[in-house]
Amino acid sequence: MTPAFVVAGSPEIIRVTAPRDAHVEGDWDGHALQFFPGHATDAWYALAGVDVEAAPGPAAVASTIRITVHHPGHDNADEVRQTIAIHPAHYRTTSLTVAPKFVEPGPDELKRIAAESEIKKKAYAGTADRPLWAGDFAAPVAAKPTDSFGTRRMLNGKLAAVHKGMDFRAASGTVVHAGNAGTVVLAQPLYYEGNCVIVDHGLGLMSLYMHFSRIDVKPGQRVTKGQRLGLSGATGRVTGPHLHWAIRWQGAMLDPAKVLRLKLSELR
Ligand SMILES: [Zn+2]
Repeated sequence: MTPAFVVAGSPEIIRVTAPRDAHVEGDWDGHALQFFPGHATDAWYALAGVDVEAAPGPAAVASTIRITVHHPGHDNADEVRQTIAIHPAHYRTTSLTVAPKFVEPGPDELKRIAAESEIKKKAYAGTADRPLWAGDFAAPVAAKPTDSFGTRRMLNGKLAAVHKGMDFRAASGTVVHAGNAGTVVLAQPLYYEGNCVIVDHGLGLMSLYMHFSRIDVKPGQRVTKGQRLGLSGATGRVTGPHLHWAIRWQGAMLDPAKVLRLKLSELR
């Protein structure tokens, strides 16, 4: 198993050495690990990650990875358990001013937000049971990202939320590309996200694109890496035009900068 020291918000690749005809399964603190075969005949991999908010406070939090390898024709399975320390990342706090309706939504807005949370839940549940990605991730726009993942944001003077994505300074109308191959599972306007596209890359891994001025894809559509998804804009809860790009693995929000550095092309 590879990770020994994990920082909240980090994506991880877990490698297990087992023959190709073995059945490998596991879990990590309530998340199922879904293994896929690698290039090497005895390599199995699973993607995993720790949510950005997983470890508040200064102390490391212990978590356990459990992996079971079943060999065909054998009754006994090999089980491995490893305790992993999760360390908090160090995040800044910043202040922003947005339209008041985004900090204190009225009853109609709250109804809309609740309905949209169900729509998102359905989209998240629609992940493929096999990898759909092809090689490494690529940045969705040719614009400078800001180093803001994990920042605690005071919105209009109230601590509102941890920033769970990467912002690119993209002028309205900038073409936004799929960060990797996958299937569109959501493409519609949402209250906070604005015009939003979510692409499923399989095994619980999804990329989210927010605040578009225009959406060019439909739910159910297969997209290749680099395919145009729409145009960036300033819809939803924003202070100005930009692209918010987020990566989600089984409910955990991961640092897109680290996902861009994952060497997925070396795995399979
Ligand atoms: Zn953002």
